[in-house]
Amino acid sequence: MTRPFDGHTLSPETVAFLDGDMRLLIDGERVEGEAFHETRDPATGIVLARFHVGGKAQIDSAVAAARRAFEGPWGSMAAAERTAILQHLARVMEANATLLTELDVIDNGMPRFIAGLTTANCVEMVDYYAGAILRIEGTTTTPPRHVSAEAEALTYTLREPVGVVGQIVPWNVPLSTAILKLAPALAAGCTVVVKPSEETPLSLLALADMIGEAGFPAGVVNIVNGFGATAGQALAEHPDVDKVSFTGSTATGRRIVMAAMGNLKKVSLELGGKSPVIVMPDADLALAVPGVAMATFFLQGQNCMAGTRIFAHEDIYDALIKGLVQFASGMTLGHGLDPATMQGPLISEAHCGKVMAHIDAAKAAGARLVTGGEKLARPGNFVQPTIFTDCTPDMAVMREEIFGPVMAVQKVATTDLDELARLANDTPYGLSGSVWTRDMAAAHRLVKRVRSGHVSINCHGAVGTNIPFGGYGQSGWGREFGQEGLDGYLETKAVTARL
Ligand code: NAD
Repeated sequence: MTRPFDGHTLSPETVAFLDGDMRLLIDGERVEGEAFHETRDPATGIVLARFHVGGKAQIDSAVAAARRAFEGPWGSMAAAERTAILQHLARVMEANATLLTELDVIDNGMPRFIAGLTTANCVEMVDYYAGAILRIEGTTTTPPRHVSAEAEALTYTLREPVGVVGQIVPWNVPLSTAILKLAPALAAGCTVVVKPSEETPLSLLALADMIGEAGFPAGVVNIVNGFGATAGQALAEHPDVDKVSFTGSTATGRRIVMAAMGNLKKVSLELGGKSPVIVMPDADLALAVPGVAMATFFLQGQNCMAGTRIFAHEDIYDALIKGLVQFASGMTLGHGLDPATMQGPLISEAHCGKVMAHIDAAKAAGARLVTGGEKLARPGNFVQPTIFTDCTPDMAVMREEIFGPVMAVQKVATTDLDELARLANDTPYGLSGSVWTRDMAAAHRLVKRVRSGHVSINCHGAVGTNIPFGGYGQSGWGREFGQEGLDGYLETKAVTARL
């Protein structure tokens, strides 16, 4: 089937993929689900593919396959062999980078340059955790007194995989949010059932083909597309799943915790945010204007780290707003396949409606709209980059995660670091944040006061494969990326031997 992409073309491999196998991956086989669902290009509204969705029955067979693989070939495989398979996956992904990139562009709507970067980061992530396998190490320590009093003894620790892991991921960076869970889990020796978002199944279906090519034994990685309330819920509450790792909204995170209670499975959560951006009077505006703008507008604002609460000092307020308005109004909106596109569409009509309702509410609450605020009169879910000034801490636009291209700016008169931190910390979230100033001492002192898992100075959202990422407060439990990302999939066993 040929599909129009606003006049832009796809590579032959992506075109072929869209007409290919849209089934689930369970126990090394592509299998049918219990129903079908359609996925659309959010920039045009056209149907990209009909894919299989699984429910409880498919989750049950995927978990059973993962258990067999854990107790069988994957669990007994030498570490060097596991490393080689992960490295092979990285090479297969690299060879298929155009396909993976284009699928996230058309399924999610993100600009191509961003999808290209996230695909490259995913390859790096798989390589990074492949390399970490041989560095999974325990410790030796002093044996307990009551044993060593009687005989020579030896105490050491083993790091062992948590077991069968359920991974539930969102739509906003489809490949990346899955790989940053899959790679460390597989490196740790776990087996996995992944439930992608029903909004963006495609890049993980492409990954399903690559899992086979890389040489994973059957059942090590299972990919079950499906809806949250059915497949997702079944995975989160499954009695034979040892851990559930979830990325998504804080509201769903609460449901995951409840569902996990039955067998008290381990839970890690990467949730929402409403991250503060503090612009001090001595900030370098040449850096701060584009940096603060992209803190909000990167990925259409559909970004958990989005810096959407701007605290701007009165001395630079007017100049900063002028620059931000100029930047935002100059952003090119369009299809993600267009190289000129800086901002793509929102994920769906329904989500677009929610973002527009937030914009209306901000106007009604008295925030001043200085640019944007409109949905584009064209097919697709395009909302203009939007900036509200004169915001106050009680307004919903300053408090709620909008997950769209909407910035709220509050003028502040203080440079007192405790007072600025109090403003920044006035939120249930704590995922990201940034401080913009030339005074490095003040920056580090302020960063220390901000209750958030990830704070940047003169840049925003500086995430990387090796840098731990996660939330304080209601932004989540645990950390992903880096060594801490691997630790989340390992148990520690302490062994004492009386010799
Ligand atoms: P969502 O919570 O609606 O859905 C996330 C996933 O959970 C999807 O796969 C969905 O099908 C599934 N799900 C929904 N209900 C479920 C249930 N009852 N049981 C089990 N699974 C269920 O989130 P979304 O709209 O897809 O993503 C946006 C949210 O994700 C935002 O809040 C954003 O901040 C957050 N997010 C956080 C991070 C992070 O690292 N902290 C990264 C990306 C996105």
